[in-house]
Amino acid sequence: MEAGESYPLVVLGAGPAGATFAAHAGALGMPVLLLDAHTFPRDKICGDALSGNTTYELEKLPGSPVPDFLERVPATASGGIRFVAPGGKVLDLKLKRTRKGFPSSGLVAKRMDFDAFLWQQATAWPTVEFVQCKVQQIEALPLGWNIQTSQGSIKAEVIVAADGAQSRFVRELQKGEAIHRKHHSAGLRMYMENVQGFSSDGLIELHFRKDLLPGYFWMFPMPGNRANVGLGVRSDVVARKRLKLRPKLLEIVHEQSVLGERFSEASALEQPQGFGLPLGSTRRKAGGTGFVVLGDAAGLIDPFSGEGIGPAMASGRLAAALMHEAWNGKTWMHRDFESFTDRLWKHVGDDFRISLLLQRLLRFPPLFDAVVARCNRSPKWHQSLEMMLDRPEERKQMARPGFWLSLLRG
Ligand SMILES: Cc1cc2nc3c(=O)[nH]c(=O)nc-3n(C[C@H](O)[C@H](O)[C@H](O)COP(=O)(O)OP(=O)(O)OC[C@H]3O[C@@H](n4cnc5c(N)ncnc54)[C@H](O)[C@@H]3O)c2cc1C
Repeated sequence: MEAGESYPLVVLGAGPAGATFAAHAGALGMPVLLLDAHTFPRDKICGDALSGNTTYELEKLPGSPVPDFLERVPATASGGIRFVAPGGKVLDLKLKRTRKGFPSSGLVAKRMDFDAFLWQQATAWPTVEFVQCKVQQIEALPLGWNIQTSQGSIKAEVIVAADGAQSRFVRELQKGEAIHRKHHSAGLRMYMENVQGFSSDGLIELHFRKDLLPGYFWMFPMPGNRANVGLGVRSDVVARKRLKLRPKLLEIVHEQSVLGERFSEASALEQPQGFGLPLGSTRRKAGGTGFVVLGDAAGLIDPFSGEGIGPAMASGRLAAALMHEAWNGKTWMHRDFESFTDRLWKHVGDDFRISLLLQRLLRFPPLFDAVVARCNRSPKWHQSLEMMLDRPEERKQMARPGFWLSLLRG
Protein backbone atom coordinates (compact mmCIF):
# COMPACT_ATOMS: atom_id res chain seq x y z
CA MET A 1 0.00 0.00 0.00
CA GLU A 2 1.30 3.42 -0.88
CA ALA A 3 0.08 6.57 0.81
CA GLY A 4 -1.73 8.89 -1.62
CA GLU A 5 -2.51 6.03 -4.06
CA SER A 6 -6.01 5.22 -5.31
CA TYR A 7 -7.32 1.63 -5.11
CA PRO A 8 -10.38 0.19 -6.89
CA LEU A 9 -11.53 -1.96 -3.94
CA VAL A 10 -10.62 -1.55 -0.28
CA VAL A 11 -11.94 -3.91 2.41
CA LEU A 12 -12.04 -2.59 5.98
CA GLY A 13 -11.61 -5.52 8.38
CA ALA A 14 -10.34 -9.07 7.80
CA GLY A 15 -12.67 -10.99 10.16
CA PRO A 16 -15.00 -13.68 8.74
CA ALA A 17 -16.94 -11.14 6.63
CA GLY A 18 -13.95 -9.29 5.12
CA ALA A 19 -11.75 -12.37 4.70
CA THR A 20 -14.55 -14.37 3.03
CA PHE A 21 -15.25 -11.46 0.70
CA ALA A 22 -11.54 -11.18 -0.17
CA ALA A 23 -11.21 -14.96 -0.74
CA HIS A 24 -14.11 -14.99 -3.23
CA ALA A 25 -13.11 -11.72 -4.92
CA GLY A 26 -9.48 -12.87 -5.10
CA ALA A 27 -10.53 -16.15 -6.73
CA LEU A 28 -12.45 -14.07 -9.31
CA GLY A 29 -9.26 -12.11 -10.05
CA MET A 30 -10.41 -8.83 -8.52
CA PRO A 31 -7.77 -6.53 -7.00
CA VAL A 32 -8.43 -6.24 -3.26
CA LEU A 33 -6.67 -4.15 -0.63
CA LEU A 34 -7.55 -5.79 2.69
CA LEU A 35 -6.94 -3.73 5.85
CA ASP A 36 -7.12 -4.78 9.48
CA ALA A 37 -5.95 -3.19 12.70
CA HIS A 38 -4.49 -6.57 13.71
CA THR A 39 -2.25 -9.10 12.13
CA PHE A 40 -3.37 -12.74 12.24
CA PRO A 41 -3.73 -14.89 14.28
CA ARG A 42 -5.69 -12.56 16.56
CA ASP A 43 -8.33 -13.25 19.19
CA LYS A 44 -11.99 -12.26 18.87
CA ILE A 45 -14.44 -12.42 21.78
CA CYS A 46 -16.96 -15.07 20.71
CA GLY A 47 -18.69 -18.29 21.77
CA ASP A 48 -16.61 -20.04 19.06
CA ALA A 49 -19.60 -22.14 17.89
CA LEU A 50 -19.50 -22.80 14.15
CA SER A 51 -23.03 -23.65 13.06
CA GLY A 52 -24.19 -25.55 9.97
CA ASN A 53 -24.35 -22.15 8.20
CA THR A 54 -20.65 -21.63 8.87
CA THR A 55 -19.58 -25.09 7.70
CA TYR A 56 -21.74 -24.48 4.59
CA GLU A 57 -19.77 -21.28 3.91
CA LEU A 58 -16.48 -23.12 4.50
CA GLU A 59 -17.56 -25.60 1.83
CA LYS A 60 -18.32 -22.73 -0.55
CA LEU A 61 -14.89 -21.12 -0.18
CA PRO A 62 -12.91 -21.22 -3.41
CA GLY A 63 -10.12 -23.82 -3.62
CA SER A 64 -11.95 -26.56 -1.65
CA PRO A 65 -10.09 -25.92 1.60
CA VAL A 66 -12.18 -28.16 3.92
CA PRO A 67 -9.57 -30.97 4.33
CA ASP A 68 -6.93 -28.34 5.03
CA PHE A 69 -9.27 -26.65 7.54
CA LEU A 70 -9.88 -29.91 9.42
CA GLU A 71 -6.17 -30.63 9.55
CA ARG A 72 -5.10 -27.20 10.72
CA VAL A 73 -7.90 -25.89 12.93
CA PRO A 74 -8.42 -27.81 16.19
CA ALA A 75 -12.19 -28.25 16.60
CA THR A 76 -14.73 -30.19 18.64
CA ALA A 77 -17.43 -31.91 16.61
CA SER A 78 -20.80 -30.70 17.82
CA GLY A 79 -23.69 -33.11 17.43
CA GLY A 80 -26.43 -30.58 18.17
CA ILE A 81 -27.83 -28.27 20.82
CA ARG A 82 -28.94 -28.85 24.42
CA PHE A 83 -31.61 -26.30 25.36
CA VAL A 84 -32.23 -25.79 29.07
CA ALA A 85 -35.63 -24.12 29.51
CA PRO A 86 -36.24 -21.44 32.20
CA GLY A 87 -37.96 -24.04 34.43
CA GLY A 88 -34.89 -26.34 34.19
CA LYS A 89 -36.23 -28.98 31.75
CA VAL A 90 -33.73 -30.13 29.12
CA LEU A 91 -34.31 -30.64 25.40
CA ASP A 92 -31.57 -32.21 23.28
CA LEU A 93 -31.85 -31.58 19.55
CA LYS A 94 -29.37 -33.56 17.48
CA LEU A 95 -28.16 -32.45 14.07
CA LYS A 96 -28.86 -35.26 11.63
CA ARG A 97 -27.44 -33.66 8.51
CA THR A 98 -23.69 -33.99 8.04
CA ARG A 99 -21.59 -31.95 5.66
CA LYS A 100 -19.31 -33.73 3.25
CA GLY A 101 -15.87 -34.14 4.80
CA PHE A 102 -16.89 -32.72 8.20
CA PRO A 103 -17.24 -34.93 11.30
CA SER A 104 -20.54 -33.12 12.03
CA SER A 105 -22.36 -30.14 10.61
CA GLY A 106 -21.51 -28.01 13.67
CA LEU A 107 -18.11 -27.47 15.31
CA VAL A 108 -16.54 -25.44 18.08
CA ALA A 109 -13.15 -23.88 17.29
CA LYS A 110 -11.24 -20.94 18.75
CA ARG A 111 -11.63 -17.77 16.73
CA MET A 112 -7.90 -17.29 17.09
CA ASP A 113 -7.43 -20.32 14.80
CA PHE A 114 -10.59 -20.02 12.70
CA ASP A 115 -10.08 -16.39 11.66
CA ALA A 116 -6.39 -16.97 10.92
CA PHE A 117 -7.39 -19.81 8.59
CA LEU A 118 -9.87 -17.57 6.73
CA TRP A 119 -7.31 -14.78 6.53
CA GLN A 120 -4.81 -17.23 4.97
CA GLN A 121 -7.45 -18.34 2.45
CA ALA A 122 -7.95 -14.70 1.43
CA THR A 123 -4.34 -13.59 1.30
CA ALA A 124 -3.23 -16.66 -0.69
CA TRP A 125 -4.80 -15.13 -3.83
CA PRO A 126 -2.25 -13.07 -5.80
CA THR A 127 -4.60 -10.11 -6.31
CA VAL A 128 -5.28 -9.72 -2.57
CA GLU A 129 -2.90 -7.43 -0.68
CA PHE A 130 -3.13 -7.33 3.13
CA VAL A 131 -1.93 -4.38 5.17
CA GLN A 132 -2.04 -4.14 8.94
CA CYS A 133 -3.21 -0.66 9.81
CA LYS A 134 -5.95 1.04 11.78
CA VAL A 135 -8.60 2.90 9.81
CA GLN A 136 -8.91 6.27 11.52
CA GLN A 137 -11.26 8.31 9.35
CA ILE A 138 -13.31 7.89 6.19
CA GLU A 139 -14.53 10.75 4.05
CA ALA A 140 -16.85 10.61 1.04
CA LEU A 141 -15.43 12.14 -2.17
CA PRO A 142 -17.43 12.91 -5.35
CA LEU A 143 -16.20 9.63 -6.91
CA GLY A 144 -15.05 7.44 -4.07
CA TRP A 145 -13.58 7.70 -0.61
CA ASN A 146 -10.62 9.07 1.27
CA ILE A 147 -9.41 6.68 3.97
CA GLN A 148 -7.06 7.90 6.64
CA THR A 149 -5.11 5.04 8.22
CA SER A 150 -2.28 4.63 10.70
CA GLN A 151 -0.07 4.03 7.60
CA GLY A 152 -1.14 7.17 5.73
CA SER A 153 -4.11 8.25 3.58
CA ILE A 154 -5.32 6.39 0.51
CA LYS A 155 -8.25 6.72 -1.88
CA ALA A 156 -10.75 3.97 -2.66
CA GLU A 157 -13.21 3.75 -5.55
CA VAL A 158 -15.28 1.20 -3.64
CA ILE A 159 -15.33 0.33 0.07
CA VAL A 160 -16.37 -2.97 1.61
CA ALA A 161 -17.05 -2.16 5.27
CA ALA A 162 -16.44 -5.35 7.27
CA ASP A 163 -15.06 -3.68 10.36
CA GLY A 164 -17.28 -5.35 12.91
CA ALA A 165 -19.76 -4.33 15.59
CA GLN A 166 -18.15 -0.94 16.19
CA SER A 167 -17.74 -0.17 12.49
CA ARG A 168 -16.11 3.18 11.89
CA PHE A 169 -17.69 3.30 8.42
CA VAL A 170 -21.20 2.92 9.85
CA ARG A 171 -20.56 5.36 12.69
CA GLU A 172 -19.17 8.05 10.38
CA LEU A 173 -21.14 7.59 7.18
CA GLN A 174 -24.38 5.81 8.07
CA LYS A 175 -25.37 7.73 11.16
CA GLY A 176 -29.05 6.97 10.49
CA GLU A 177 -28.27 3.27 11.04
CA ALA A 178 -27.40 3.75 14.73
CA ILE A 179 -28.49 0.70 16.71
CA HIS A 180 -31.27 0.77 19.29
CA ARG A 181 -30.53 -1.21 22.47
CA LYS A 182 -33.31 -3.72 21.76
CA HIS A 183 -31.47 -4.69 18.55
CA HIS A 184 -28.17 -5.19 20.34
CA SER A 185 -26.84 -7.68 22.89
CA ALA A 186 -23.97 -7.52 25.30
CA GLY A 187 -21.88 -10.72 25.41
CA LEU A 188 -19.20 -12.09 27.72
CA ARG A 189 -16.84 -14.98 27.16
CA MET A 190 -14.59 -16.85 29.58
CA TYR A 191 -12.34 -19.76 28.58
CA MET A 192 -12.21 -22.44 31.27
CA GLU A 193 -10.76 -25.89 31.67
CA ASN A 194 -11.98 -29.05 33.34
CA VAL A 195 -15.70 -28.26 33.16
CA GLN A 196 -17.55 -31.56 33.72
CA GLY A 197 -20.65 -33.18 32.33
CA PHE A 198 -20.69 -32.39 28.59
CA SER A 199 -22.57 -34.96 26.51
CA SER A 200 -20.44 -37.51 24.67
CA ASP A 201 -21.67 -36.20 21.28
CA GLY A 202 -20.43 -32.67 21.98
CA LEU A 203 -23.79 -30.90 22.29
CA ILE A 204 -23.41 -27.18 22.78
CA GLU A 205 -25.54 -25.97 25.70
CA LEU A 206 -27.82 -22.93 25.87
CA HIS A 207 -29.25 -22.28 29.36
CA PHE A 208 -32.23 -19.92 29.19
CA ARG A 209 -32.16 -18.71 32.79
CA LYS A 210 -35.03 -16.48 33.93
CA ASP A 211 -32.66 -13.72 35.04
CA LEU A 212 -31.15 -13.40 31.54
CA LEU A 213 -34.17 -13.77 29.23
CA PRO A 214 -34.39 -13.39 26.31
CA GLY A 215 -30.65 -14.01 26.59
CA TYR A 216 -28.90 -17.12 27.83
CA PHE A 217 -25.84 -18.59 29.51
CA TRP A 218 -23.80 -20.90 27.26
CA MET A 219 -21.33 -23.74 27.74
CA PHE A 220 -19.54 -25.02 24.65
CA PRO A 221 -17.07 -27.96 24.82
CA MET A 222 -13.71 -27.30 23.16
CA PRO A 223 -10.67 -29.38 22.31
CA GLY A 224 -8.18 -30.13 25.10
CA ASN A 225 -10.68 -30.42 27.99
CA ARG A 226 -11.46 -26.72 27.64
CA ALA A 227 -14.77 -24.93 27.41
CA ASN A 228 -16.06 -21.59 26.22
CA VAL A 229 -18.62 -20.34 28.75
CA GLY A 230 -20.40 -17.03 28.59
CA LEU A 231 -23.61 -15.12 28.40
CA GLY A 232 -25.42 -12.86 26.00
CA VAL A 233 -28.22 -10.50 27.08
CA ARG A 234 -30.12 -7.88 25.08
CA SER A 235 -28.73 -4.45 25.91
CA ASP A 236 -32.13 -2.91 26.81
CA VAL A 237 -32.64 -5.76 29.32
CA VAL A 238 -29.17 -5.17 30.78
CA ALA A 239 -30.05 -1.50 31.25
CA ARG A 240 -33.60 -2.10 32.56
CA LYS A 241 -32.59 -4.79 35.07
CA ARG A 242 -29.29 -3.02 35.86
CA LEU A 243 -27.51 -6.31 35.28
CA LYS A 244 -23.81 -6.46 36.04
CA LEU A 245 -22.75 -9.11 33.56
CA ARG A 246 -19.26 -9.93 34.86
CA PRO A 247 -20.36 -10.69 38.44
CA LYS A 248 -23.41 -12.50 36.99
CA LEU A 249 -21.23 -14.83 34.91
CA LEU A 250 -18.95 -15.59 37.87
CA GLU A 251 -22.00 -16.13 40.11
CA ILE A 252 -23.48 -18.69 37.66
CA VAL A 253 -20.22 -20.58 37.49
CA HIS A 254 -19.67 -20.60 41.25
CA GLU A 255 -23.24 -20.94 42.53
CA GLN A 256 -24.26 -23.94 44.62
CA SER A 257 -26.56 -25.57 42.08
CA VAL A 258 -26.56 -28.58 39.78
CA LEU A 259 -24.70 -26.41 37.29
CA GLY A 260 -22.21 -25.33 39.95
CA GLU A 261 -21.20 -28.97 40.47
CA ARG A 262 -20.07 -29.10 36.89
CA PHE A 263 -17.62 -26.33 37.68
CA SER A 264 -16.35 -27.73 40.99
CA GLU A 265 -13.05 -28.91 39.44
CA ALA A 266 -12.89 -26.18 36.79
CA SER A 267 -10.58 -23.22 36.56
CA ALA A 268 -10.86 -20.03 34.57
CA LEU A 269 -8.18 -19.40 31.97
CA GLU A 270 -9.00 -15.70 31.71
CA GLN A 271 -11.18 -12.97 33.19
CA PRO A 272 -14.60 -12.60 31.49
CA GLN A 273 -14.17 -10.55 28.31
CA GLY A 274 -17.00 -8.57 26.70
CA PHE A 275 -18.06 -7.38 23.28
CA GLY A 276 -21.27 -6.23 21.56
CA LEU A 277 -23.58 -8.16 19.21
CA PRO A 278 -25.60 -6.06 16.72
CA LEU A 279 -28.69 -8.18 16.09
CA GLY A 280 -30.49 -8.81 12.82
CA SER A 281 -33.88 -8.06 14.39
CA THR A 282 -33.99 -4.93 12.26
CA ARG A 283 -33.04 -4.57 8.62
CA ARG A 284 -30.25 -2.08 8.01
CA LYS A 285 -29.07 -0.61 4.73
CA ALA A 286 -26.13 -2.67 3.49
CA GLY A 287 -25.32 -1.14 0.12
CA GLY A 288 -25.23 2.13 -1.85
CA THR A 289 -23.10 4.02 -4.32
CA GLY A 290 -19.51 2.90 -3.90
CA PHE A 291 -19.98 0.71 -0.84
CA VAL A 292 -21.37 -2.42 0.77
CA VAL A 293 -21.52 -3.23 4.48
CA LEU A 294 -20.98 -6.81 5.71
CA GLY A 295 -21.25 -8.98 8.80
CA ASP A 296 -21.55 -7.32 12.22
CA ALA A 297 -21.14 -3.88 10.66
CA ALA A 298 -24.46 -4.56 8.87
CA GLY A 299 -26.08 -6.00 12.04
CA LEU A 300 -26.25 -9.62 10.84
CA ILE A 301 -26.34 -11.56 14.11
CA ASP A 302 -29.18 -14.03 14.59
CA PRO A 303 -31.52 -12.46 17.19
CA PHE A 304 -32.25 -15.77 18.95
CA SER A 305 -29.06 -17.82 18.79
CA GLY A 306 -26.45 -15.03 18.64
CA GLU A 307 -24.83 -16.70 15.64
CA GLY A 308 -23.00 -14.21 13.44
CA ILE A 309 -20.10 -16.01 11.76
CA GLY A 310 -22.19 -17.85 9.14
CA PRO A 311 -24.20 -14.72 8.15
CA ALA A 312 -20.97 -12.65 8.05
CA MET A 313 -19.36 -15.15 5.68
CA ALA A 314 -22.52 -15.37 3.55
CA SER A 315 -22.58 -11.56 3.24
CA GLY A 316 -18.97 -11.65 2.03
CA ARG A 317 -19.70 -14.34 -0.56
CA LEU A 318 -22.83 -12.57 -1.87
CA ALA A 319 -21.08 -9.19 -2.06
CA ALA A 320 -18.15 -10.62 -4.04
CA ALA A 321 -20.58 -12.08 -6.59
CA LEU A 322 -22.47 -8.77 -6.90
CA MET A 323 -19.30 -6.73 -7.28
CA HIS A 324 -17.88 -9.10 -9.85
CA GLU A 325 -20.92 -8.32 -12.02
CA ALA A 326 -19.90 -4.64 -11.95
CA TRP A 327 -16.18 -5.21 -12.65
CA ASN A 328 -14.98 -5.67 -16.23
CA GLY A 329 -11.53 -7.01 -15.36
CA LYS A 330 -9.84 -3.60 -15.31
CA THR A 331 -12.29 -1.04 -14.07
CA TRP A 332 -15.79 -0.57 -12.61
CA MET A 333 -18.66 -0.56 -15.11
CA HIS A 334 -20.74 1.00 -12.36
CA ARG A 335 -20.45 1.53 -8.59
CA ASP A 336 -24.10 1.23 -7.65
CA PHE A 337 -24.57 -1.47 -5.00
CA GLU A 338 -27.95 -0.31 -3.71
CA SER A 339 -29.43 -3.73 -4.54
CA PHE A 340 -27.14 -5.47 -2.05
CA THR A 341 -29.49 -4.96 0.91
CA ASP A 342 -32.27 -6.88 -0.88
CA ARG A 343 -29.94 -9.65 -2.01
CA LEU A 344 -28.55 -10.05 1.47
CA TRP A 345 -31.92 -10.06 3.22
CA LYS A 346 -33.30 -12.54 0.71
CA HIS A 347 -30.65 -14.87 2.09
CA VAL A 348 -30.85 -14.13 5.85
CA GLY A 349 -34.34 -12.62 6.20
CA ASP A 350 -36.48 -15.75 6.73
CA ASP A 351 -34.17 -17.15 9.39
CA PHE A 352 -33.86 -13.85 11.22
CA ARG A 353 -37.63 -13.32 11.22
CA ILE A 354 -38.19 -16.73 12.81
CA SER A 355 -35.40 -16.11 15.29
CA LEU A 356 -36.99 -12.81 16.26
CA LEU A 357 -40.26 -14.64 16.83
CA LEU A 358 -38.47 -17.18 19.05
CA GLN A 359 -36.78 -14.35 20.91
CA ARG A 360 -40.22 -12.79 21.53
CA LEU A 361 -41.66 -16.11 22.72
CA LEU A 362 -39.02 -16.04 25.44
CA ARG A 363 -41.04 -13.22 27.04
CA PHE A 364 -43.33 -16.05 28.17
CA PRO A 365 -41.06 -18.52 30.00
CA PRO A 366 -43.91 -20.99 30.81
CA LEU A 367 -44.53 -21.31 27.07
CA PHE A 368 -40.89 -22.28 26.48
CA ASP A 369 -41.15 -24.79 29.35
CA ALA A 370 -44.34 -26.22 27.82
CA VAL A 371 -42.74 -26.61 24.37
CA VAL A 372 -39.76 -28.44 25.87
CA ALA A 373 -42.02 -30.71 27.95
CA ARG A 374 -44.19 -31.46 24.93
CA CYS A 375 -41.22 -32.37 22.69
CA ASN A 376 -39.76 -34.62 25.35
CA ARG A 377 -43.09 -36.51 25.57
CA SER A 378 -43.74 -36.71 21.85
CA PRO A 379 -41.20 -38.39 19.52
CA LYS A 380 -43.11 -36.90 16.56
CA TRP A 381 -42.62 -33.30 17.72
CA HIS A 382 -39.11 -33.98 18.89
CA GLN A 383 -38.22 -35.22 15.42
CA SER A 384 -39.94 -32.25 13.79
CA LEU A 385 -37.86 -29.79 15.77
CA GLU A 386 -34.66 -31.69 14.99
CA MET A 387 -35.52 -31.54 11.31
CA MET A 388 -36.12 -27.79 11.61
CA LEU A 389 -32.75 -27.30 13.25
CA ASP A 390 -31.15 -29.04 10.26
CA ARG A 391 -33.21 -27.58 7.44
CA PRO A 392 -33.95 -23.86 7.02
CA GLU A 393 -36.77 -24.63 4.58
CA GLU A 394 -38.56 -26.68 7.28
CA ARG A 395 -37.96 -23.95 9.88
CA LYS A 396 -40.36 -21.64 8.02
CA GLN A 397 -43.26 -23.55 9.59
CA MET A 398 -42.35 -21.93 12.91
CA ALA A 399 -43.57 -18.58 11.55
CA ARG A 400 -47.18 -19.87 11.63
CA PRO A 401 -49.09 -19.46 14.93
CA GLY A 402 -50.91 -22.70 13.99
CA PHE A 403 -47.63 -24.60 14.27
CA TRP A 404 -47.20 -23.64 17.93
CA LEU A 405 -50.86 -24.29 18.70
CA SER A 406 -50.78 -27.80 17.29
CA LEU A 407 -47.45 -28.52 19.01
CA LEU A 408 -48.82 -27.51 22.39
CA ARG A 409 -52.12 -29.35 21.87
CA GLY A 410 -50.29 -32.44 20.65
C1 LIG B 1 -19.62 -12.68 23.23
C2 LIG B 1 -19.91 -13.09 21.81
C3 LIG B 1 -20.19 -14.43 21.51
C4 LIG B 1 -20.47 -14.82 20.19
N1 LIG B 1 -20.64 -16.14 19.91
C5 LIG B 1 -20.82 -16.55 18.64
C6 LIG B 1 -20.85 -17.93 18.32
O1 LIG B 1 -20.67 -18.80 19.17
N2 LIG B 1 -21.07 -18.28 17.02
C7 LIG B 1 -21.24 -17.35 16.03
O2 LIG B 1 -21.46 -17.73 14.86
N3 LIG B 1 -21.16 -16.02 16.31
C8 LIG B 1 -20.93 -15.59 17.58
N4 LIG B 1 -20.79 -14.25 17.85
C9 LIG B 1 -20.89 -13.29 16.75
C10 LIG B 1 -19.58 -13.27 15.92
O3 LIG B 1 -18.49 -13.08 16.77
C11 LIG B 1 -19.64 -12.13 14.89
O4 LIG B 1 -20.89 -12.13 14.26
C12 LIG B 1 -18.54 -12.27 13.82
O5 LIG B 1 -17.27 -12.09 14.39
C13 LIG B 1 -18.76 -11.24 12.70
O6 LIG B 1 -17.67 -11.22 11.82
P1 LIG B 1 -17.21 -9.83 11.14
O7 LIG B 1 -16.15 -10.21 10.18
O8 LIG B 1 -18.41 -9.09 10.68
O9 LIG B 1 -16.61 -8.95 12.35
P2 LIG B 1 -15.34 -9.21 13.26
O10 LIG B 1 -15.12 -10.65 13.47
O11 LIG B 1 -15.53 -8.35 14.45
O12 LIG B 1 -14.13 -8.65 12.39
C14 LIG B 1 -13.96 -7.28 12.18
C15 LIG B 1 -12.50 -6.99 11.88
O13 LIG B 1 -12.37 -5.59 11.62
C16 LIG B 1 -11.20 -5.12 12.22
N5 LIG B 1 -11.38 -3.69 12.50
C17 LIG B 1 -12.33 -3.11 13.26
N6 LIG B 1 -12.16 -1.78 13.30
C18 LIG B 1 -11.08 -1.51 12.54
C19 LIG B 1 -10.39 -0.32 12.19
N7 LIG B 1 -10.79 0.90 12.64
N8 LIG B 1 -9.32 -0.40 11.39
C20 LIG B 1 -8.90 -1.61 10.91
N9 LIG B 1 -9.50 -2.77 11.22
C21 LIG B 1 -10.58 -2.72 12.01
C22 LIG B 1 -11.06 -5.94 13.49
O14 LIG B 1 -9.70 -5.99 13.93
C23 LIG B 1 -11.57 -7.30 13.05
O15 LIG B 1 -10.53 -8.17 12.63
C24 LIG B 1 -20.51 -13.84 19.15
C25 LIG B 1 -20.22 -12.49 19.46
C26 LIG B 1 -19.93 -12.12 20.76
C27 LIG B 1 -19.58 -10.69 21.05
